[in-house]
Amino acid sequence: GLQPPVGLPARSRRALRSAPRRKHGWTSAGRAARAWQPSCARGSSRKVTPTSVNYHFTRQCNYKCGFCFHTAKTSFVLPVEEAKRGLRLLREAGMEKINFSGGEPFLQDRGAFLGSLVQFCKQDLHLPSVSIVSNGSLIRESWFQKYGEFLDILAVSCDSFDEDTNQLIGRAQGRKSHLQNLYRIRSWCQQYRVAFKINSVVNAFNVDEDMSEHIVQLDPVRWKVFQCLLIDGENAGQSALREARRFVVSDRQFEDFLDRHSGVACLVPESNEKMRNSYLILDEYMRFLDCRGGGKQPSRSILDVGVKAAICFSGFDEKMFLRRGGKYVWSKADMKLDW
Ligand code: SF4
Repeated sequence: GLQPPVGLPARSRRALRSAPRRKHGWTSAGRAARAWQPSCARGSSRKVTPTSVNYHFTRQCNYKCGFCFHTAKTSFVLPVEEAKRGLRLLREAGMEKINFSGGEPFLQDRGAFLGSLVQFCKQDLHLPSVSIVSNGSLIRESWFQKYGEFLDILAVSCDSFDEDTNQLIGRAQGRKSHLQNLYRIRSWCQQYRVAFKINSVVNAFNVDEDMSEHIVQLDPVRWKVFQCLLIDGENAGQSALREARRFVVSDRQFEDFLDRHSGVACLVPESNEKMRNSYLILDEYMRFLDCRGGGKQPSRSILDVGVKAAICFSGFDEKMFLRRGGKYVWSKADMKLDW
């Protein structure tokens, strides 16, 4: 079977429990005003390195998950050569891992846009780790044949092994089976030597489910379990395209879900607390998004002002990134996968 990379779930869970509890919601405007200032202006002379970057190059998606926090507010996608220029700038600034996300990244040009960036990052930029997060519904075997060798990790989102629950969440396109896709992609990953990951969002509709049996059967290298997150302007608040409040679960419910799955060795939990500022997020214009205030504050684009100037406004918490095990074995060459 596949070996789980470093990052022990038991230890992560302990860290999670000892994390300070939040007494209030974190979408208050007052807090936003206090919190939002460039990292470089807060006396930190230390240079922030964009070691691991999540590039949400499109906001378009064929699914309608009720809690989606990167919604289709624009249909903009950079020309592929501009996206490559930005990726090169990031590489020169120290990037080691890129994750392509959306929206649904396989939607643009039926996966050709994504494939071209994946190949560029591995072949031209020699990035140690190239990964994708997808809902899995649009991936074809021909994509793996063409680009599989350039990809380290493919993460597919799955919140439930009950098709009706997936429908309720909106994690579906029409009545097509999300689960059939998941199993098919898992076998392609094995065939084309791409590490397979699963991402799940614990929400009001799946919070009582026991997914252990299916996860063990699918045997991902990592099963990342997130707590449903509210982001002002995305899935909460007046200007949002989604209203995710009915999906939210308490910290206690999230911990119960983790306890129920404590026997699953590849589980890596991620609470709201850990998730909020420990990712470097680039939007479709290659602007860093600062989530510290509860919404998403964009920086200038790295294509206009360069990485160093833009990253000051990213709100990135490097310590939290390291604490949540953000740096793990992320290259398939180092993973000692037993295919
Ligand atoms: S799959 Fe769901 S959560 Fe992901 S981008 Fe699409 S609608 Fe949003």
